[in-house]
Amino acid sequence: MLLASKQHAFEWINRFLDGVEDAIKTPVKDWEEASVQAKKPLVCRYCLSPIPTEAAAISMAGQHYHSQCNPHGYFFHFGCFSDAPGCRIIGDPATTDSWFNGYAWQIANCGHCQVHLGWYFSGQSPTFFGLLHNRLMHTP
Ligand SMILES: [Zn+2]
Repeated sequence: MLLASKQHAFEWINRFLDGVEDAIKTPVKDWEEASVQAKKPLVCRYCLSPIPTEAAAISMAGQHYHSQCNPHGYFFHFGCFSDAPGCRIIGDPATTDSWFNGYAWQIANCGHCQVHLGWYFSGQSPTFFGLLHNRLMHTP
């Protein structure tokens, strides 16, 4: 029993550190510069499909970027967008472990290649997408 929980804790920490490392290695500059350029879409880093437009970038709870960790130890760095037409929303809204008070979340995948890009938050106004910084890039 003790061994099992140690193994679980070890895996949790490893996943957390992998996520942090991934977020640190991602060139934040791409996205920051993108936000001041005229309406060039961000694209899925894996299949290059357009996802949101820069005009859709918004602040939630006082900031555009958020860093969060889920109960499984996955670390996420994401930005908030009022819309993300390239995303496909998966599953039913869940309020468990929501990072935003009063909001339910659903998985948001790339509508083209289906890779996980973030979440769609609903149940309060405004609804919005939280999109993972390291899975999007500026159009080349
Ligand atoms: Zn894609």
